[in-house]
Amino acid sequence: MNIEPQSLEALIGEFSSLPGIGHKTARRLAYHVLTKKRSDVERFAENLVNAVDRVHPCPRCYCFTDEDLCPVCKSRPDAKSICVVEKSSDIVPFERSGIYKGSYFVLGGVISPLDGIGPEHLHLPELVKRIKEESIEELILALGSSPEADSTALMLDRMLAGVNVKRTRLARGIPMGSDLEFVDEVTMLRAFEGRVCL
Ligand SMILES: [Zn+2]
Repeated sequence: MNIEPQSLEALIGEFSSLPGIGHKTARRLAYHVLTKKRSDVERFAENLVNAVDRVHPCPRCYCFTDEDLCPVCKSRPDAKSICVVEKSSDIVPFERSGIYKGSYFVLGGVISPLDGIGPEHLHLPELVKRIKEESIEELILALGSSPEADSTALMLDRMLAGVNVKRTRLARGIPMGSDLEFVDEVTMLRAFEGRVCL
């Protein structure tokens, strides 16, 4: 007999839909919510809605911000290098390490035919436009070392044919791609300093 009320089941369903949360964890979280004060739950729900309402991609680099331009774009408008990452959270380890003083660009993914992600789903044309318009001198690819990252780099290379910009990528051998946001400072410093030309 299923003893869980429908509203509780619905809540478990919401938690299960989050990345990295299995059904067991989702159930534990949902039951935990039921032990909270109503005011705490209200604040939680409000923060969810607020984040979705207020946070949007920066029009210049596509990282998440709640201002007209993100802090990096605001403070480094004349940067001559762009570090290309897959998703907004990948910028965090760079800024935490403090080694990089250039600008960023969030591609929004990597080309992955199996997941139905083609070049048209990424901000590739916008990136090429920025490189040309801002006379960018170095393009640092921090997309990881997966086959998908490689084909994305190749596509970008084709789109940049004839454009004079130095292309580098982070040193290999560090956890990359989806794990980039969790890279510690020392690893990031090493990967950045050991970056190689493409
Ligand atoms: Zn920005």
